[in-house]
Amino acid sequence: MELHNFDAIVIGAGMAGATAAAHLAPTRRVALLEAEETAGYHTTGRSAAIWILNYGPPDVRALSGASRSFFETPPDGFPPLAHRRAVVTLAPPSQAAHLASMIAEGAGIEPFPLAEIAVQVPVLRPGYAAAAAIERDAFDIDVAALHQGFLRTVQRNGVLALRHRASLIRRTDGLWHAETSGGASFAAPILVNAAGAWGDEVARIAEIPTIGLQPKRRTALIVDPGAHDCSAWPLVGDCDHTWYVRPEARRKLMVSPADETDSDPCDAQPEEIDIAIAIDRMQQALDIPVTRVEHAWAGLRTFTPDRSLAIGAGSAPGFFWMCGQGGYGIQTAPAAGALLACLIDGRDPGPLAAIIPAVDPRRLERTT
Ligand SMILES: Cc1cc2nc3c(=O)[nH]c(=O)nc-3n(C[C@H](O)[C@H](O)[C@H](O)COP(=O)(O)OP(=O)(O)OC[C@H]3O[C@@H](n4cnc5c(N)ncnc54)[C@H](O)[C@@H]3O)c2cc1C
Repeated sequence: MELHNFDAIVIGAGMAGATAAAHLAPTRRVALLEAEETAGYHTTGRSAAIWILNYGPPDVRALSGASRSFFETPPDGFPPLAHRRAVVTLAPPSQAAHLASMIAEGAGIEPFPLAEIAVQVPVLRPGYAAAAAIERDAFDIDVAALHQGFLRTVQRNGVLALRHRASLIRRTDGLWHAETSGGASFAAPILVNAAGAWGDEVARIAEIPTIGLQPKRRTALIVDPGAHDCSAWPLVGDCDHTWYVRPEARRKLMVSPADETDSDPCDAQPEEIDIAIAIDRMQQALDIPVTRVEHAWAGLRTFTPDRSLAIGAGSAPGFFWMCGQGGYGIQTAPAAGALLACLIDGRDPGPLAAIIPAVDPRRLERTT
């Protein structure tokens, strides 16, 4: 078996592995190992591609906020990444109290008159919402451009090895050794686990404690909004997060039932029932006849037990976690990669130092 020596091995070339490897690449030769034929085949290629500051637990908000400048002013080698799109939250009467607390606790969320929404989104059914709010400072992310930009950075000083599933991982003589389905063996003093839904499986293979990762399936579909050009519509959803829609193009609207169904790690597929629920919930709020679903997909959003991320050292020397990205792995990616690199190098991450305890993977380690 061929042996390749590197300074760091990163397992998984989705968004988490790509940003981790790219942030290590300036000072290290990195081997980025990906089981599939294409990087981003799993969750990274299946997201809704939105950046929303008021989303997720405090560590996620800190990482999203710290990522903003990267999206708005991308560094050399990245094309424009952010395209403005406001987020409108609708509250039926039963969700009005929830909306009020969201406005009180969130940053930059304002009450929004229903009459104004009806102008922006003319299909809103009168009577659905009792109140609404708008978060103007949100944007669509060009996920493919972000991901490819990170992968190009890695390839300048390292390798992206596709069709290389790490199937045997051992630490000997101060080095991690990863043997892959591609018939090669990689060795490095540092190993980063960025395997998404398979994060705990990689820990088991490496014989280190797992952290209780739970993949949860989320469904999305594309429908035609009929006579309406929806391209300038905001993202619209309800306050309890049971459905949302996001324009994809002039005549394409992405709809999701915001489902979170526990799943084993797998190539997630949409279920008919979740597609039907998405359409039903959307149609209670929006007058959009659906004659045909153009395309439907599902992806696994993988959460830690407390829903904060897992970024940093594990209990074995040189083993680092970059997992638990949940529903925020795109919008947090630039800062999450930078934080991981600081933790590996022993550098001060600046204001992100405040979230290190919240994302420390050792808070979650289990021996089963
Ligand atoms: C419908 C939907 C909507 C979403 N919307 C948003 C959004 O608007 N904004 C946002 O920020 N996030 C969103 N997300 C979440 C976001 O997509 C994820 O958080 C992110 O893509 C996770 O990236 P990842 O690299 O951890 O996982 P993945 O992209 O799944 O990558 C993990 C990779 O590891 C590889 N791998 C696993 N085991 C091995 C092994 N042993 N050896 C080698 N490779 C291995 C896998 O093949 C896979 O490619 C959404 C997700 C879904 C499903």
